[in-house]
Amino acid sequence: MSHPRTDLAALEIAELEAALESRGVQRFHARQLYRWINKRGVTDIDRMTDLSRADRETIKREFLISTPKVVADDRSIDGTRKFVLELADGRRIESVFIPDTPAMTFCLSTQVGCAMACGFCLTGKMGLVRNLTAGEIAGQARVLAAATDLLDRPFNIVLMGMGEPLHNYENTMKALRMLHEEHGLAVSPRRVTLSTVGIVPGLERLAREPLMPNLAISLHATTDEERTRLVPPNRKYPLAEILEVCRSFPVKRRSRITFEYVLLADVNDTPEDARRLARLLHGIKSKVNLIPLNPAPGIPYERPSDERVNRFAQILADRHLTVSVRKSRGRDIRAACGQLIVEGGTKKSAAQTMARLMGR
Ligand code: SAH
Repeated sequence: MSHPRTDLAALEIAELEAALESRGVQRFHARQLYRWINKRGVTDIDRMTDLSRADRETIKREFLISTPKVVADDRSIDGTRKFVLELADGRRIESVFIPDTPAMTFCLSTQVGCAMACGFCLTGKMGLVRNLTAGEIAGQARVLAAATDLLDRPFNIVLMGMGEPLHNYENTMKALRMLHEEHGLAVSPRRVTLSTVGIVPGLERLAREPLMPNLAISLHATTDEERTRLVPPNRKYPLAEILEVCRSFPVKRRSRITFEYVLLADVNDTPEDARRLARLLHGIKSKVNLIPLNPAPGIPYERPSDERVNRFAQILADRHLTVSVRKSRGRDIRAACGQLIVEGGTKKSAAQTMARLMGR
């Protein structure tokens, strides 16, 4: 083969039009192709019967359509499903289906591993292996929608799987455009939540995007000293800068920024922390999502008691903040927040070796 074949599943419609045209296929076929791949979940070109035989042959010869392959589909007793997906290069990622919350939700990854190294997160222990392509990010939604019979029904997306979306900015935003496309799954940005540790230049860029997802900030601490310990990027992008961007962030009408706060026993769960958190969020259209730690082997923190979680929540509520406590779903299959780390696999990464050493 003289040139690597272009992956049609990684293209937006305009790119698809140009790619087809360059190989002598008329550009209006781009929409049909997009619909087959991204809306109907069909990747076998022979099944695309509204294209002429000659066009189908050209497309087969010139292009490929790559789709993350489901290599494991574990079901939790609560209905959550954790998918292990294998990518074209053999790397593996995890994506999670969370039913009835009250909507159907897909939790998607944006990177293989993660560079942020948060002290309580298992994915952070892997380090960053590589960014996902836009096709691989959008492909997770395509695969999960097909597997859960949701290709024709609405679902929510949270970018809360493996990786830091603002550390893979271009591909993440392109994936959101692909998912939003009317000839594809037509996912409204209102149904998408991007969760970030708060990379300030990324947030400033996001604030100017025409296609704006809901924003969630992983805050987790109320002083820079504590936050730098738990969320190392805080050294570069401290609390005050993150909150300043949040203050001027163009939040849609009747919408708010979610602040995620992992509760770690005796570390960041004191009444004083709660009062400080309320002060920090003053004047921001916010809601707080408390996440009692999902413990994991190798994570040196503990989950606080329910009593302590409720006390923290009550202090925030008394100060007129909207508070929710995240129910951990799929903990029995290690699908909950911070528990995504690929086990086994064809290539041995340091993290996989470590996971094995930890006896998992
Ligand atoms: N990098 C992004 C996207 C990952 S989202 C971000 O950090 O926001 C994953 C969410 O789960 C984050 O809020 C993260 O802080 C939280 N999380 C990570 N490890 C966790 C654990 N062990 N228990 C509970 N929540 C955890």
